[in-house]
Amino acid sequence: MRIDSILKTKRTLSFEVFPPKKEESGEKEELFRTIDSLRSLNPDFISVTYGAGGTNARGAVGIAGHIKSVGVEPLAHITCGPSSPSDIDRVTDELKSLGVENILALRGDRPVGFDGEYCKHFSHATDLISYIGSGFCIGAACYPEGHTECATLRDDLINLKKKQDCGASFFISQIFYDNSYYYRLVHEAGKLGITVPIIPGIMPLVSAKNIARIKSMCGSTVPLDFRNMIETYSSNPAVMREIGLNYAVYQIIDLIAKGAPGIHLYIMNRADTAAEICGRLRSVFNELF
Ligand code: FAD
Repeated sequence: MRIDSILKTKRTLSFEVFPPKKEESGEKEELFRTIDSLRSLNPDFISVTYGAGGTNARGAVGIAGHIKSVGVEPLAHITCGPSSPSDIDRVTDELKSLGVENILALRGDRPVGFDGEYCKHFSHATDLISYIGSGFCIGAACYPEGHTECATLRDDLINLKKKQDCGASFFISQIFYDNSYYYRLVHEAGKLGITVPIIPGIMPLVSAKNIARIKSMCGSTVPLDFRNMIETYSSNPAVMREIGLNYAVYQIIDLIAKGAPGIHLYIMNRADTAAEICGRLRSVFNELF
């Protein structure tokens, strides 16, 4: 089923997984077990990331097919990267043959050490959205704190509007730890005529070592209060995890109460994290989803 059709009828709950780096290491079977556990939490869809260099395309497509085969709607990410139109055709043909109807179209960032021609054929997600066309339900990324390459949020939102104009029918946000950034994004996007649902992306911060990585990886800031809590308990992983899960739960309750169209959880392939959060939110989900 198309995700934009689901969004017309209800709020969505979704999880993001990433394919294993090496297929032969047993990680694929482990991921299949994770997907099985996630299925029991009744997500509306599970998204599968795609390497920016296009190297894991086959693995990602196979995992999207597996998600479909166990009865959950997959959302297959595809990046521009170095892909040519015929590379994209190959991936979309395979996705179609597996019954996958939803694609998240992304530019991707040049991977460290990649020295080939990058984004030669498709410069931006907008090019990919236009090329893939209406045979799929297409979503795209948005950035509550603005994309790192844009001088202002407004510049980034003008480009976001282009993604909608090219055919994106929903957006999933980059992670954020201060909900005000998401509310500002929704408000400002509305003023520019962006009308499609903007699903907030939440990543529970359960390990202190991730704080430093978050800013450099995706430009998201961690509020001082939360940062202090994490740093105070960084040497105690159990307490740290508890703080991170509770903070994510707090963010989600606030987002749902203020009308977010769904919740997308970046769970880093941890089914236990997803189960913990969903368990703590059961009555909220029952009431509001
Ligand atoms: P774009 O939309 O191309 O935007 C990149 C920059 O160009 C922005 O500054 C934007 O304002 C500007 N821009 C956009 N369109 C135009 C235009 N038409 N003309 C001029 N400027 C323009 N990366 C992966 O490698 N694999 C994944 O699976 C993956 N999944 C992601 C999922 C989500 C929900 C998010 C938020 C990010 C994901 N990323 C993934 C990371 C993403 O690829 C990077 O954030 C990348 O830097 C930008 O991707 P984009 O699709 O937003 O690019």
